Amino acid sequence: MTCTLRVLGCSGGIGGELRTTSFLLNQNILIDAGTGVGDLSLDELREIDHVFLTHSHLDHICSLPFIADAVGGSRDVPLKIYGIYETIHALQEYIFNDVIWPDFTKIPSTKKPFVSFNLIEVDEPIQINGLTMTALPVNHSIAANAYAISSDSGALVFSGDTGVSDAFWQSVNQQKNLKHLIIETSFLDQEELAIITGHLSPSLLMGEIAKLDQQVAASDLQIWICHLKPDVGDVIMKEIAMLSQNTALKPQKLSRNTTLHF
Ligand SMILES: [Zn+2]
Ligand SMILES: [Zn+2]
Repeated sequence: MTCTLRVLGCSGGIGGELRTTSFLLNQNILIDAGTGVGDLSLDELREIDHVFLTHSHLDHICSLPFIADAVGGSRDVPLKIYGIYETIHALQEYIFNDVIWPDFTKIPSTKKPFVSFNLIEVDEPIQINGLTMTALPVNHSIAANAYAISSDSGALVFSGDTGVSDAFWQSVNQQKNLKHLIIETSFLDQEELAIITGHLSPSLLMGEIAKLDQQVAASDLQIWICHLKPDVGDVIMKEIAMLSQNTALKPQKLSRNTTLHF
């Protein structure tokens, strides 16, 4: 089975047309549940069966409570939410805790709830609807993971939020037939915020991309930049273009409503 990834949101913030991180895979799998989810119709929301989360930061989970609330009652099976232990624990403790939002793992009953939480482990592949989803290690300010998604015809890796990480690139280099790499660059080099908060800046990104195996880098791999902070996004992309002008890889800005195939 091939895969279509539709970008619902890929910004590091909100404002105007910007939406935070969320990708829809083949209509029924969501990766992260940022503000971009709010643009889906009720029918589209109802079709989502699986949500894979990279981490528990608000820009990646904020629509999750609303999905459960909007379509939980009209679905036959629970919405399955996947994440590493720290992500799932945070959702249970701080969001679906009957204070901020109802505990939808018990509503309307524990036998037939609106949502179910499912623990995943880094580097352990999961087969879903002909796709293989694998959580990969990253280095963020809280526990987080990237995802590799493989179809019959190729693979895509999405970094989620990450700073400098050797383990992530080792995993990227192991992917077969990698077509797309979506990676974050949140801040400018001058800000130092990238290092403090576990994100990348243009110079850090170039240092990271240099960890790609020659073979992978020489393939038809396309690198997409996401999670740009709204006020500095254009400047970040100009710096990346300048830094990468003498390299074979030309990272492009990922935009909302872009569709990637692999
Ligand atoms: Zn984050
Ligand atoms: Zn984020």
